[in-house]
This record gives sequence, C-alpha cells and structure tokens, in this order.
Amino acid sequence: MPKLVILSGAGLSAESGLRTFRDQNGLWENHSVNAVCNGATWRANFGLVHQFYNERRTQLATATPNAAHRQIADWQRRYKTVILTQNVDDLLERAGCRDVIHLHGFLPEMTCAACGHTWNIGYRAWKKEAPCPRCQSVRDARPRIVFFGEPAPAYRLLWESFAALTSRDVAVIIGTSGVVLPITELALQSRGYKILNNLAPEPAIPGHLFDEVFYQPATQAAGEIDRLVRKRLEPSPGLAG
Ligand SMILES: [Zn+2]
Repeated sequence: MPKLVILSGAGLSAESGLRTFRDQNGLWENHSVNAVCNGATWRANFGLVHQFYNERRTQLATATPNAAHRQIADWQRRYKTVILTQNVDDLLERAGCRDVIHLHGFLPEMTCAACGHTWNIGYRAWKKEAPCPRCQSVRDARPRIVFFGEPAPAYRLLWESFAALTSRDVAVIIGTSGVVLPITELALQSRGYKILNNLAPEPAIPGHLFDEVFYQPATQAAGEIDRLVRKRLEPSPGLAG
C-alpha cells in the first residue's frame, strides 16, 4: 500500500491565528526568541519562559483547526499516513489526526527536567503551586518544547520517513521555511512524489526539487493538493500495471 508522509510547519497554523517568530524578525509575539526558547538560558529566564508559554497555551484554547488541518486528517483516514509537524499546537489532533509526531514538542504538555515525567495541563497556565506530579520539583518544571540548542529525538523519525518513500509514495510539505529543518536534504533523500506548499518561495527551499509547488495559503492549496494525492495513491484500476 503506497504511503503518504506529511511534514508541516508554522504556515499550516497561521490561518488559525497562531503566529510564530519566523513572521517577524526574531520576535515571537513581541518576545525575543532567544530569551524564551533557549536550552542554555531557560532556567535563568524561568519566570519569563513560563509566562510566555502560558500565554501561548491559553491563546491555543481560542484557536480552531482550519481546512488544511482537516484535509490532513482526511488523508490519514484514507491512506497509510505519517504526520510530522514542527508545530507545538494541537490543531492537527483537534481536526481528527492521530499519532502526530511533534518534532519540536507539544504545548499542552509539561515535562520535568529532573525526573523526565511528562504531563498534560491542557490550555491552562502553569503555576508554581503545581510542581512535577512525580517528584514535586518546581524549578525543573518546563514546557515540553524543544528549545534551541537541545536535541530533537523525533528527527530520527523524520529522516526515516522520508528515506523510506518509494516512487509510488507521496510526500507533502506544508508551511515551512526550511530555516530550521533541512528541507532540501530531505527532498533529495526521498524518492517519493513531492508536493510543496508555502505562502511564497523560500530562499532555503529550491522549488525545482519538487514535483508540484503551490505558493499560496494552505487552506487555498488543500483542494488541489488533495486531487494530486488521490491521483497518485488511488490509481484507476483500468490503468494498473
Ligand atoms: Zn519530576
């Protein structure tokens, strides 16, 4: 059975009202990214880091999945699908996706830097009165977000997923600048049919590496990409072989 691999980034959730720092000169919702997303300084900036992610979490409660999230969920119901995302929001899950691989962490979850315990706090702000449920540490509680300078263990799944694609399979890349992830190398490594959808050409992603390119908002491109995906993964029986 042919496979479908989806890799999404900020552009997928932008139309749901969630912004990320790539939009605006190293600032993420008016905060310096380096101050709130840094593996070397998060303890020194403890209060600010928690305030920032608390705001992102409560904001997430007011966001809703868009047509592109729902299209991905629909693909997963129809095909053998691997969903990878750089996004830390849960909009794919709320659109109906299962087993989403969050490469850079998951906003509704906290993790403990002391004992490794992970727990879900939904869309609530984390407060010091709520220490790690397992070891009771307060100062080790942090958002389950991969900060800059920290390892991202799920990258292994990303490389494996792209490398495993055959010429019968399809990869769809949606809304990513190619600044954090090496999209060029991933595309070169994959033998699948490759579709790219970004708002506009990105300097780090050569469009010619892809079989089809859509430079438009994800919700606008979703229908046409769906048509291509169907064509590749549901070949008409009369033409088989
Ligand atoms: Zn703990």
